[in-house]
Amino acid sequence: MAACSALHRAAGLQAHPRLAVTRTAAVTAPVLCRHCEDAPCARVCPVAAISLSGRSVDLNETLCIGCKLCAIACPFGAIQLAGTACSGVAAVSPAWQPPLAETEPAAAPHGSNAMLSPLLAWEPGVKAIAVKCDLCQGLADGPECLRVCPTQALRLEDNDALARAAYARRQAALFALGADLSLPEERS
Ligand code: SF4
Ligand code: SF4
Repeated sequence: MAACSALHRAAGLQAHPRLAVTRTAAVTAPVLCRHCEDAPCARVCPVAAISLSGRSVDLNETLCIGCKLCAIACPFGAIQLAGTACSGVAAVSPAWQPPLAETEPAAAPHGSNAMLSPLLAWEPGVKAIAVKCDLCQGLADGPECLRVCPTQALRLEDNDALARAAYARRQAALFALGADLSLPEERS
């Protein structure tokens, strides 16, 4: 997460990390984008800020209007909304409005909204921008998280490798159940 944040900040993008390490009693693992073939996040974006390229699903942060639909549509919780303070607000505010810095923060009408879902959190004067994994586009050596992981727990796989792994898992599960994998004519 730290490496992801540092790399994107240096590139002028949102510094919010694109993966979130989560812990349960049994396992510790990062939640991250799977770059889905059908990418529900891209299908719901009203401004086409998310697009499918050859091997990845890319989000253009400069087009995002912060509607959060992609984060709701993602079945893996792989999209986060990060805030950017609206620069130049004081300059474009009407004369009868005090500059943002002098404005009292608005009270949240329902203080527990953010407790219900992080998607309901908001901060006055801060524009929400969707952030998701971009496979560290432009890095010749591939995603930064792979490079820094001390146990090589992260790998970048193509569709063929995923299909082979799924097939091997199914075979192992059937074998463990003692299933008869022979053809019907072979059993008689
Ligand atoms: S953000 Fe979610 S829905 Fe979009 S490609 Fe990644 S995992 Fe799939
Ligand atoms: S939050 Fe941004 S990227 Fe996501 S659906 Fe809305 S406009 Fe598109």
